[in-house]
Amino acid sequence: MAKDKIWLSSPHMGGHEQKFIQEAFDENWVAPLGPNVNGFEEDLQQYVAQNKSIAALSSGTAAIHLALIMLDVQPGDFVICQSMTFSASANPIKYQGAHPVFIDSEKETWNLCPKHVEAAIKGTIEKHGVKPKAIIGVHLYGTPYQSDEINAIAYKYDIPVIEDAAEALGSKYKDQKCGTLSKFGILSFNGNKIITTSGGGALITASSEEKQRVIFFATQSRDQAPHYQHSEVGYNYRMSNITAGIGRGQMMILDKHVELRRANFEFYKSNLGHLAGFEFVDELEGIYSNRWLSAVLIHEDKAGFSREDLRLALEKENIETRPLWKPMHMQPVFADCDYYGDKVAEQLFNIGLCLPSGSNLTDNDRDRILKAIMEVVNS
Ligand SMILES: *Cc1c(COP(=O)(O)O)cnc(C)c1O
Repeated sequence: MAKDKIWLSSPHMGGHEQKFIQEAFDENWVAPLGPNVNGFEEDLQQYVAQNKSIAALSSGTAAIHLALIMLDVQPGDFVICQSMTFSASANPIKYQGAHPVFIDSEKETWNLCPKHVEAAIKGTIEKHGVKPKAIIGVHLYGTPYQSDEINAIAYKYDIPVIEDAAEALGSKYKDQKCGTLSKFGILSFNGNKIITTSGGGALITASSEEKQRVIFFATQSRDQAPHYQHSEVGYNYRMSNITAGIGRGQMMILDKHVELRRANFEFYKSNLGHLAGFEFVDELEGIYSNRWLSAVLIHEDKAGFSREDLRLALEKENIETRPLWKPMHMQPVFADCDYYGDKVAEQLFNIGLCLPSGSNLTDNDRDRILKAIMEVVNS
């Protein structure tokens, strides 16, 4: 009999989600607004930072798009973006007709390398005669980028930062929650994230005025009038009251999910960290990662097998793993974009593997994964 599939990261319900959905049905709030949307926004605000204002949206991608619109990113503009990330970080730059400028990773966090960010700002001014309009940093797999260093450079050149915290809800940088470290923060509640609404996202803003402006764009930019009147291009990006109900239930167990994901990482690190050729990324001082995904680097020269060997061996055991994100500057769709860096992201992509990381993994699952890995190690 085939063994049950162990997923990389699958939805994990807490038990209260359906109660909020039932309420929405009982009151007929089946629309992209309603008490669950407001309640979910309040819960998020309570959780990440009470001095921020948060708009619940249809996806994390929509949140990045609206952040770029809020920053008036126009056709022909340049936007700096971490190369090692999911394509959703960069696609909205293209929606605006602007040009992504991709940045290599640093070894310490796998995120934006400050040195290359500054080189890219200078290089863009030199080559194209304009300053980049924004910087998009990503807290990959829940590990925060070096926010103080990035913000200092951004401040020096007066360029706003958009923080892609899609993978980092619950992570902290020096006691501040990820998503609140810069001008705009974005969250995602896609099915594989640390909490899910089945699909959804949020934009974290500095003021309720900004939030109102975001909601204006997200609901087709309707002017004040009894009829439908529009002076600006609008979008249909608001979160539905049904999915927000799932979100309210998920917020009740978010901290537990963070603990469980961190325990997964500790399990892998304590059992594998000492083996030849295995490398895990430690938290720098003042950093708290939600460990959304546990990722490991396999140095073939020391381990005696490659990342691919390991991935394929686990696949045979019906255990899902995945190479790290393929950097954007290596993607065909972004082939003509500027890139500043060396080969760090490329190397990480070549040797990195994300291991099963769900908050719903059982002891039995973890034992099965470890056993399968040790078979490769000992073969
Ligand atoms: C998931 C993700 C997004 C996009 O979020 P969606 O809600 O799927 O649109 C953006 N950036 C990163 C880094 C992500 O992992």
